[in-house]
Amino acid sequence: MQTIAGFDRIGEENAFAVLARAGQLAAQGKDIINLGIGQPDFPTPPNIVEAAIKALKDGQHGYTPAVGIPPLRAAVAADLHRRFNAEVNPDNVIVVPGGKVTMFSAILMFGEPGADILYPDPGFPIYRSMIEFTGARPIPVPIREENGFGFSAEETLALITPETRLLIVNSPANPCGGVTPKAEVDKLVAGLAAHPQVAILSDEIYDQMLYDGEQHVTLLDYPEIRDRLILLNGWSKTYAMTGWRLGYSVWPDGLYDKVRKLAVNAWSCVNAPAQFAALEALTGPQDAVATMLAEFDKRRTLVVDGLNALPGVSCITPKGAFYAFPNVGETGWKAKPLASALLEEAGVATIGGPDFGVLGEGYIRLSYANSAENISRALDRMGEFLSRKG
Ligand code: PLP
Repeated sequence: MQTIAGFDRIGEENAFAVLARAGQLAAQGKDIINLGIGQPDFPTPPNIVEAAIKALKDGQHGYTPAVGIPPLRAAVAADLHRRFNAEVNPDNVIVVPGGKVTMFSAILMFGEPGADILYPDPGFPIYRSMIEFTGARPIPVPIREENGFGFSAEETLALITPETRLLIVNSPANPCGGVTPKAEVDKLVAGLAAHPQVAILSDEIYDQMLYDGEQHVTLLDYPEIRDRLILLNGWSKTYAMTGWRLGYSVWPDGLYDKVRKLAVNAWSCVNAPAQFAALEALTGPQDAVATMLAEFDKRRTLVVDGLNALPGVSCITPKGAFYAFPNVGETGWKAKPLASALLEEAGVATIGGPDFGVLGEGYIRLSYANSAENISRALDRMGEFLSRKG
């Protein structure tokens, strides 16, 4: 059956395929340690779960406004003000079913044949997949180990052409855990003044997952680009709510009504009780966020030290998110066959770097959203495997 050409180009996220394969192997009785999928291993904090249950019991069963319930949009604006002193009008906030929906909407809005869209490589695979879907030209912005896996403003600006419609940036970043320093962000924003036709999608979904006293640099902080900035954020990672399908974005006046109409056409609104849970997440106690982060920080040390002790492996210390992106170039393995062999033969699920872009060759991604005990066992297995087969 014939479909539009875009559907022959749409990609996916291999993390879900690895998750499925890990599940199959586990169902066959194999002991699999999953460092593949990027989701916190903690349960959603109980006060948030209770808020959703209460909303259901209170009769919150119907459609809500397409852009989200007013108190939640106000809470998002207040939260951004509390954390960054950012001035955000709740009328520019839309609640969406997951962070992915914001990237889908923004890329759909700007992508068409003849347009260029810049995106990070290695980066979240859905950026490129969606760009290709729209027929726009995907232009990878290299994310380099020697830059601590942050983006380079100079390299990014040099890739902009008159055809560039959208620039996607992501810090803290998936899959590398990199955090781009403020000086580099300043430089990028200054350079964007010369390219007023370029909209910016800033994916800040890991904005609370920073280590070593690092402070998040939000693009909301730059008034000169606010009229073309789309901020992507959400609850999935910060509040361990990946399965709730919740996210939010901030859109400039000129684009907001377009995304509102897209919502009416595509998803009507976000699940009503989930929105009440999201409200509790933002307005209730925040200690669970700090507790999870402290635990991630301990595991980060464990995973980085462990990886650096493996033959042929070196790993810089990621400053954000919950991923390590070790360089496996000296193991004698290409990244994807290595990830596959680690799963099939050592029972450790990881993701090959090329699943995040061509510059991911020579790296694999480990999510340290798993218990310290499992991380240690996984590292032992990887060490044993590489000594045998490296
Ligand atoms: N952006 C980045 C960089 C991510 O890593 C992810 C999830 O892994 C998302 C967005 C999507 O988040 P959600 O699960 O809320 O759709």
